[in-house]
Amino acid sequence: MNDKIPLLDLHTQFKEIEKDVRSAIERIFLSQNFILGPEVDNLEQEIASYVSCKSGIGTSSGSDAVLAALMALKIGPQDEVITSSYTFFATAGAISRVGAKPVFVDIEPNSFNLNVGKIERLITKQTKAVIPVHLFGQACEMAPLLELCKTKNIPMIEDAAQAIGTEYQGKRIGSFGVIACFSFFPSKNLGAMGDGGMVTTNDESLAEKLRILRSHGSKPKYFHHVIGGNFRLDALQAAILQAKFKYLDAWTLARQRNADIYDQLIQQEELEEFITPPWRRLNDRHIFNQYVIRAKNRDHLKNHLSEQGIQTEIYYPLPMHLQPCFSYLGHQKGDFPEAEKAAQESLAIPIYPELNKNQQEQIVVSIKEFYKQKL
Ligand SMILES: *Cc1c(COP(=O)(O)O)cnc(C)c1O
Repeated sequence: MNDKIPLLDLHTQFKEIEKDVRSAIERIFLSQNFILGPEVDNLEQEIASYVSCKSGIGTSSGSDAVLAALMALKIGPQDEVITSSYTFFATAGAISRVGAKPVFVDIEPNSFNLNVGKIERLITKQTKAVIPVHLFGQACEMAPLLELCKTKNIPMIEDAAQAIGTEYQGKRIGSFGVIACFSFFPSKNLGAMGDGGMVTTNDESLAEKLRILRSHGSKPKYFHHVIGGNFRLDALQAAILQAKFKYLDAWTLARQRNADIYDQLIQQEELEEFITPPWRRLNDRHIFNQYVIRAKNRDHLKNHLSEQGIQTEIYYPLPMHLQPCFSYLGHQKGDFPEAEKAAQESLAIPIYPELNKNQQEQIVVSIKEFYKQKL
């Protein structure tokens, strides 16, 4: 019997970082300062500089980061925001929560990222923002998207929840758009011990707006010129994230190493007929938040792997345009065929930094077994 392999192994990670995390938490015990303050300030500076951006504003989650970004740009009812049909719900949910209309676009088959060539025809007078999502840790095709946003004068908000440290043509994701949104959900490359997020921007007046918005729109305290929310990052999470941040680049390197090993094993075992390893744009920094293959007979493969104790996940089984909550938009099956196809075929297999080569071999052998049974 093989050992079980989880999709993410935070227990093993914790052994490596335990001392650092405990001393970070100890600082919070001693300070008894839980809301904003120096821990949040320090993390904001570290992350902003890591993503080559002037300002970082800690938020309660990645979802609230997207929400606050839309609010800071005063996007609301009557407005339209273009985003990918193939993303985590939060991107589209935030657009709806400010009262605007999500306008979905299909994805490129190779990268799973939004298809920039299909955006222009969706732009109307109501289009107030475009939200590219750097899915699984790989950047969207930014050059033509930036060009388009510039000529049409539409602000870009980046959903970089899965893309901390990702690079496009040598430049870090975080300042391509007017605002970028990051998440510290535990499964992200830099995960908190709870929820957390951050927005980054180079625009000082937007940064100030975001800081005000995350504390109910008040400045000074108890005087409200705008309506915000409680979108603050906890000092406790900020302290933990600072401790973990030191390891981020090593973890990302390990994920990239694991991705290379998978690519090789899939080739060696001649599995390309059945599964397609993730496509990568050459020379870009893909941080492999997920390693997502396309698989024939995906659901059965997933079950087979599960029986072997190998945990996988489907990101995402239903594209946004087919979600029941968005039925009011009037979309139908077939509207975005590439997103729908990806939802049928994609499967994330374990890629976490602590995964070792034996485990990866075990996974690839199990995949091979499955397709051999079928022959
Ligand atoms: C994780 C994620 C979010 C939301 O982040 P939370 O911190 O979980 O709220 C938003 N967009 C994408 C693409 C994500 O993967």
